[in-house]
Formats: sequence, structure tokens, C-alpha cells
Amino acid sequence: MEQLERERQASLARQIAVDLATQSVVGVALTWVDNSGITRVKAVPVGRLERAAAWGVGASPVFDTFLVDDSTVVGRFAGGPVGDLRLHPDLSRLTTLAAAPGWAWAPANRYDQDGAPHPQDARAIARREVWLLAALGFTAQAAFEVEWCVSIGDGDEFVAACKGPGYGMTRLVELSGYLRDLLSALTAQAVSVEQIHPEYAAGQYEVSVAVDDPVGAADTAVLVRETIRTVSARHGMRATFGPKVLADGVGNGFHVHLSLWRDGVNLMSGGAGRYGLTPAGEAFMAGILARLPALLALGAPSVASYLRLIPSHWAGAFACWGLENREAAMRFVTGALADRATAANVEVKCFDAAANPYLLMAGLLAAGRAGLTSEATLPEPVEVDPASLDPQTRAARGILALPGTLEDAVVTFESDPVLGEALGAALVDTVATVRRGEIALLANADAATIAARTRWRY
Ligand code: GLU
Ligand code: MG
Repeated sequence: MEQLERERQASLARQIAVDLATQSVVGVALTWVDNSGITRVKAVPVGRLERAAAWGVGASPVFDTFLVDDSTVVGRFAGGPVGDLRLHPDLSRLTTLAAAPGWAWAPANRYDQDGAPHPQDARAIARREVWLLAALGFTAQAAFEVEWCVSIGDGDEFVAACKGPGYGMTRLVELSGYLRDLLSALTAQAVSVEQIHPEYAAGQYEVSVAVDDPVGAADTAVLVRETIRTVSARHGMRATFGPKVLADGVGNGFHVHLSLWRDGVNLMSGGAGRYGLTPAGEAFMAGILARLPALLALGAPSVASYLRLIPSHWAGAFACWGLENREAAMRFVTGALADRATAANVEVKCFDAAANPYLLMAGLLAAGRAGLTSEATLPEPVEVDPASLDPQTRAARGILALPGTLEDAVVTFESDPVLGEALGAALVDTVATVRRGEIALLANADAATIAARTRWRY
């Protein structure tokens, strides 16, 4: 970071601090998401924001090797007690937290002490992927869907905070005050909510938000999750985004909606391909489809993820695509008739919120870009539940079951050249080390134990 940029940031922070003080904001939370998918934080009083913006706040690089239970591992390129990084708030995304009076939040970029971006900073890598796509003449629009379950009180046992049926109006009635406060807080924070509804699993709800640029979408996912957590606590409840809250039943997904654009035109629509896909839109999707097994190491990164990622649970356990097919890992959505040209997108369903959204977004964009440069094409779409096809038919149609264990996903990830180039060898090693650390942590644990030990961590 150049001196001029430091001065620019300092002057911006000075103005923002004045504004924050008039809103009685006392502290600013600076967050980043680690490789285990946990949002970590350092906070500064408003009076120190200027200094933080110019020079950053110290944070150990050891967080790159934290596991879900806060123990650490040591990789070849990360881990251990030595070194320091600087967290720089992205002031353009600074938000006053409506449900946590006195607090504001900003996502942080991590730099080294000399002012160079930390090579294993997920947000920086996601930003780079956006630039690389732009260099080819494309932009992407993205949104994460957040599913969560709410439990009564603060106990470790999960006790669903609502009793009504899945998608039932009863659940809205039961927790109407909670959902109202959540909507108000998100709206006050300039999060553009598109929909909120009770989901299928016990105590489960979902919120979906408007699309944004890919890094903005990942920031919003962090903000939405922490807002849900805050509002839940204020209502005497506990929120969990864990992939599998209870050993049986349906899990919490973290579906990613993506569309590819050029010159203001959505390339998922208006083309001569299937369902209106253009060649570029198809190639982008095909690049992602081909790399889903490896991408799982980023998007289904917990041992608990594989309790969720099973057929016939709407989690998308098969690597295939289909129009509005909720059992395909990639569900193609043309959108409502009125706004097809802008709304058409693909929803990648196989991911869950143990994912670091920045890292996952970087991987998705890199995979899509690889599809674009190789002019990849999609296989035939699948119009049934792939689990209903016999294995021979699935094999003949090229429909693969996604990896059934985290270890299988990690092995594929480690040897994937596209993700390797996007993340760099150091981060690939760190991610694989963290994944194997968590596999060892939960080795021999049964499903109920895995659910219980991960439930309150995300
Ligand atoms: N809860 C399901 C999952 O684990 C998704 C349900 C839906 O399609 O919205 O991904
Ligand atoms: Mg859902």
C-alpha cells in the first residue's frame, strides 16, 4: 500500500468517524473469514479508525490454520506463532450495525507489514478473480442464499424455536417479531432483501438478497449471517448456520447464484443455446460443473458438510445441471417471464455455510473462467431426480455423484490445476492442511457427534 493511498484512507476514515460518532457508534468490528469458514474479528474504537485505515490492525497469520474448534495445525506455508499481518477495513463497505447499537462493521483486507496484500488473503484472491474475468471482457453477478436454524435459549442442545410445518405460515406467525426485527435490521444496513421464508428443517429459515458484484456478495453474506446471529440473541435464541444441525433431516445450504455479463447484457439469457444460454454463459457454467468435485473442498469444507450433501435432500449431491432441478448441483433458473433477460442465472446448490464465501467465490470464478477460455460445453440437462435413475443410466449420461467424504474432495482439489493457479500453491497447501486437521479431529465420530461439535461454530 503506497503512502498516498494510506493518506487517502486516513482522510476518508476521519470523515466516516465523525459521521459514526453522530450515530453514537463506539466501535468498529473488522472481520475476515478464515479457512475453516469462521468469521474472525478485531475491533477498534471509532477514535482509532483513522489509524486502522492507514496502517491496519495487527492480526497473526496463524488464523490461516485455525480449525473449527479453535485448535491449530501447521502447514508448509502457514501456521505457528511467528509473524504479523495488518487488517485494513474496506471503508467502502463500512456499515452501522442496526441490531448491535454502538457498533459498525467493515470487512478487512489483510496485508503484510510492508503493505503488500497477504498472498493467502481470500478476499484479495476473490478480487483478483474479478479482475481476471474483467480482463476477458466479462463481469459476474452473484448472491448467496443464507439458511439457518434457530434454537430456544443458549443451550448446546438444539431445540427448534418454532414448531410449525416446513414453509408453513405458522412459523412466520410464531416468530413474526423476530423476523420483523431481522428484516428491519437488514434493510437499515442497506442489504436488499428479496425474500425471507421458513425452510424445511426444524427451526429453519432462509433469506435471499439481491445480486451484487462477487466480492460484494461475499461481504453481504458475512453481514447477513452476523445480523441473523445478533437478532437471534436479542430474541433469546441461538442461530446456527452449521451444515447439519441434527444428524438426520435436512441441513443448512449456502447456495450461490451466478450470472455472467458482458457490456451490460446477461449471457445466461437471450442466446440460441438450451433455455436461452449464450455460448459464453454455457462455457462459464460448464467450467464450474467440471470442477464441482474439487470446489467442494472450498464450498463443502467441513466433515459435517458430507452429512448434508446426500441425495433427495435438495442439497444437489450429483454433478449435473437441469432447469429448475433442485436435486441437480447446478439448478438453472430462467427467472420470471417479465425479467428473464436480467434474472436468468445458475444456482450452485451443493455448498454450505461452513464455506469461506470469498474463497468459494474465487474458486467459482476461476472455474468459470477456465470454462470460458476452453469454450467448454454442457452435457445434456437432467430433468429428473438423478437419484431416481439407475447407476448405469447415470453413468451413461455422465452424471457423477459428488465426493461423499471431505478427504475425497480434498484429494481432487489438491490436484486441480485451475484452482491451484487461482489460489496459489501456498493457500492450496494451507486449505488442505486445515481440511485434514478437521478430518482428524472428527475421525471416528458418529453423525450425531459431528453435528453437535460443529453446530454452534458457524
Ligand atoms: N436446505 C437445503 C440444503 O441443504 C436446500 C433447500 C432449498 O432448496 O432451498 O441445501
Ligand atoms: Mg432454501
